[in-house]
Amino acid sequence: MKPFAYLRPATVAEAVRAGAGHPGARFLGGGTNLVDLMKLGVESPGLLVDVSRLPLDRVTRTDDGGLRIGATVRNSDLAAHPDVRSGYPALSQALLAGASGQLRNTATTGGNLLQRTRCPYFQDVSKPCNKRIPGSGCPAREGAHRDLAVLGHSQDCVATNPSDMAVALAALDAAVLLHGPEGERTVPVTDFHRLPGDNPDQDTVIRPGELITEVVLPPPPAGAASLYRKARDRASYAFALASVAAVLSVRDGRVDRASLAFGGLAHRPWRARVAEDVLRGAPANEDTFTRAVDAELAAARPLRDNGFKVDLARRLAVGSLAELTTEAAAG
Ligand SMILES: Cc1cc2nc3c(=O)[nH]c(=O)nc-3n(C[C@H](O)[C@H](O)[C@H](O)COP(=O)(O)OP(=O)(O)OC[C@H]3O[C@@H](n4cnc5c(N)ncnc54)[C@H](O)[C@@H]3O)c2cc1C
Ligand code: SF4
Repeated sequence: MKPFAYLRPATVAEAVRAGAGHPGARFLGGGTNLVDLMKLGVESPGLLVDVSRLPLDRVTRTDDGGLRIGATVRNSDLAAHPDVRSGYPALSQALLAGASGQLRNTATTGGNLLQRTRCPYFQDVSKPCNKRIPGSGCPAREGAHRDLAVLGHSQDCVATNPSDMAVALAALDAAVLLHGPEGERTVPVTDFHRLPGDNPDQDTVIRPGELITEVVLPPPPAGAASLYRKARDRASYAFALASVAAVLSVRDGRVDRASLAFGGLAHRPWRARVAEDVLRGAPANEDTFTRAVDAELAAARPLRDNGFKVDLARRLAVGSLAELTTEAAAG
């Protein structure tokens, strides 16, 4: 690991100033991803600005009944928070489906949103990778891509976003609050992560020096149930091959409200707007769910070895919507 300076600011303003004033600075949350990448030589920041003790460790209710989640709230605490468990089960389940208990005790909300891809070539500095070194190439396209993207990828990158939490936040219409050298702004989670295009080195729309300070959830949708389901190679401690976050309400046998997002399939959490259009107002049954999910997944462009992910995602999504319909009918 290369030598680096370390700073623990006491305020958000001080953190932003330090981050903006040093081109090689990185914010440090729990360090469970950043420090690993530093050990591998993928990241070599000149300054670590440790934001983990900033006063951003609270979950509070907003005036309209939503939630504000501080950027340094630990993944375990967020998953266990009573308001999250009761109002946003998909978020709690997504967090608990990620990593291990030990990692979740350390990982933060801000760091989880900004964790980097698990593409094996990105983590191996002996290999080219457009995300690590722009213009160097993408060996994954022809190489090992079984776990990688089937939707929204480009010639330049076929990586997936690894965060389970972000998929639930996308389905729940959460927003990210950012503080930067030019002030404060709010970005919907669905617009926060990017598709790779021809500059996959940019994972998100975050600007240099910007700090995530909060994630804001709207009030839980009245009468709706939500869930998160994840398919992976092992029962625990593995990233998603495909995952689904779904929110559904049913009235008089028809879909009243539906939001659906996929994980493990694309460079960002994939909000399934096409499927949602088919679902809205249609009879809440398996035929509708299959039509809706198929309409969304028609855009999939699997690579040589990952076509199975499309079918996996289809079955997860249709099953999840059916499960939520049963839950809605029960109560
Ligand atoms: C073995 C293993 C298995 C895992 N399995 C899963 C899994 O199944 N699902 C899953 O979702 N995750 C999984 N993870 C990833 C884990 O969830 C992430 O490492 C963790 O959430 C990152 O949070 P952190 O606070 O430690 O981030 P850090 O490592 O501190 O930071 C990550 C990035 O975010 C930036 N950053 C941190 N905080 C802020 C902020 N407030 N504002 C701006 N930038 C910030 C850092 O500069 C860095 O670029 C796994 C990790 C490991 C090691
Ligand atoms: S898929 Fe993306 S991250 Fe992986 S090697 Fe290609 S450019 Fe790099």
